[in-house]
Amino acid sequence: MSKRSKEKDLKGIIPGITRVLRKFYPYIRKERFLIAGSFFALLLETGLRLLEPWPLKYVFDYILIPAHNNTTIAANTFGLSPIALLTLSALAIVVIAGVGSMAAYLSTYGMSLAVTRVLSEVRSDIFNHLQRLSLSFHQKSKSGDLIARVTADIEKMRTVTVKTALPLITNVLSLVGMLLIMFFLNWELALVAMAIFPILTLLTKNMISRIRNFAKLHRDSEGVLAATTGETIGAIQVVQVLSLQEMLHSIFSKQNQKSLDEAIESLRLSAALERIVQILMAIIIAVVLWRGSHVVLSKQLSPGELLVFMTYLKNAFEPMRKLSNQVGQIAKATGSGERVVEILDYEPNVRDLPGAKKAHPFFGTVRFENVSFSYDTDTDILKNVNFVVQAGQQVAIVGPSGSGKSTLLSLILRLYDPEAGRILIDGQDIREYTLDSLRQQISVVLQDSVLFAASVRENIAHGRIGATDKEVEAAARLANAHDFIMKLPQGYNTVLSERGGTLSGGQRQRIAIARAAIRKAPIIILDEPTTGLDNKSEHTVNAALAKLTEGRTTFVISHNLRAVENADIILYIESGSVLEQGTHRELMRLSSRYATLYRMQSIVDVDKDTLSGDNNYVLEA
Ligand code: ADP
Repeated sequence: MSKRSKEKDLKGIIPGITRVLRKFYPYIRKERFLIAGSFFALLLETGLRLLEPWPLKYVFDYILIPAHNNTTIAANTFGLSPIALLTLSALAIVVIAGVGSMAAYLSTYGMSLAVTRVLSEVRSDIFNHLQRLSLSFHQKSKSGDLIARVTADIEKMRTVTVKTALPLITNVLSLVGMLLIMFFLNWELALVAMAIFPILTLLTKNMISRIRNFAKLHRDSEGVLAATTGETIGAIQVVQVLSLQEMLHSIFSKQNQKSLDEAIESLRLSAALERIVQILMAIIIAVVLWRGSHVVLSKQLSPGELLVFMTYLKNAFEPMRKLSNQVGQIAKATGSGERVVEILDYEPNVRDLPGAKKAHPFFGTVRFENVSFSYDTDTDILKNVNFVVQAGQQVAIVGPSGSGKSTLLSLILRLYDPEAGRILIDGQDIREYTLDSLRQQISVVLQDSVLFAASVRENIAHGRIGATDKEVEAAARLANAHDFIMKLPQGYNTVLSERGGTLSGGQRQRIAIARAAIRKAPIIILDEPTTGLDNKSEHTVNAALAKLTEGRTTFVISHNLRAVENADIILYIESGSVLEQGTHRELMRLSSRYATLYRMQSIVDVDKDTLSGDNNYVLEA
């Protein structure tokens, strides 16, 4: 994620919030009416909050103090009798609280609804986006970290928006309202009270940005922890066999400590910030009380107004005290938001080009024209590859490990795009087709087929959306899998454990072949599908593969040259270059690398065959 380093330079939370809001705007727009309604309720709530101390002022100034001083009661205030004014004031307190609570309820409920809707849509889109991001992105990212972004980061944003941001807006609005009224009552006292703001801003600015930095570091560390745990559990067999427990535990402990340190530092800073605000507020209240009493004595302010003033100051204390904590919380949620936006902003480097067309049903001719490719590094993995395959031909790709065979096949699927040159299917550059329509017409069987933790039926049906039960069974029969599936406890409904662990290697491959067969794709890719199987399983899988590939353009990677000698074309690759291509006979006649390798393997195989009495061919057709 290259953008990460750039973000560290950004100061304050405003740019972060702006970036997150801008990205989320299309989602927010859909909820604009609900948000506007909730905002109106919020304004009403704030207004009523400002009105709260006013009934007290009237009771004080017009009823209590005149009575206490034995002066004439201001009986004609608003044309009301003292008892009517008193009753009205008492009633006003209840009405203000009642309507205020109702408005607060509506604004919280409405805003929660809007935020939850927005974020669940965002989450669904990130999930979709993640699935579409190129393999190169996923190979660089830690899956645990990505999972944290889809789950924990979104949840953090949801809770903070509802429980922190919303009260923060109410607080800021009522603070502004209180200040305006305070200025109206007595500007000199208001100025004294306001002295707190510049001091507070100066003291907190640096701290807030430090809290934000630590919060982001902490969330990143949590992602790393999740990734380490995921990787370790995913490879637990290797970990135990190689006795890596101690080493991995020590790595985990260090990451754990780092995450802990960052969390504590962020909590410590937040706590310090809150206390500083608290002390400052006490000082200001004391000063205003002292100065305010003088102002009342000099008749520039009524006692009731000083009461309103002091109530506002005291009421301001809570929002102000919470302000620092809320800003800290929002800084954390902004960190989460930015991590989410980072993913959404990441453009898949393999994607539908503008104007990409849905592919027509392929005949299956495939042409590589001067194709070169490299993964991020400077070294070319494929160099100027050229070959043509006619529809229905069988192509074997052979060569040493790491020579680029799998890479070459992944380019046909557009898991990556070539850096130079082009790949044509039926005479059209494959980048001119939409990705989905291209991939739907290619079936793949890999060496280690991944099955999902779902029923056998669903696993096979994954090969083609909308496949019927009949088609699933037909595909299973073609893959020589029907008989063993029927012997499973619940037949086609047997739920496989994760990665299909309850089946033998050969059975898993046959389910994978059924999954490939159900697509009825004109192009088939086989990447060493029988490697690692015992002789008997290999034979059954080969028989199934022969049926699957019949009459279809087939690419097969194999280390066993004798198994692919009947292929229509053999491509011999070394260090990313196709050094020899032709039929087995042509390559043998060349008497170069392929021929040497073939002869070497024959000697070894003759020995093996004598021992096992078995002989296998992948492409038996
Ligand atoms: P083969 O299938 O012939 O064994 P590959 O196509 O798997 O060869 O790999 C060719 C080269 O590309 C190897 O050097 C390998 O290390 C490198 N390679 C393969 N996959 C990646 C990847 N995702 N990122 C970077 N390098 C890779």
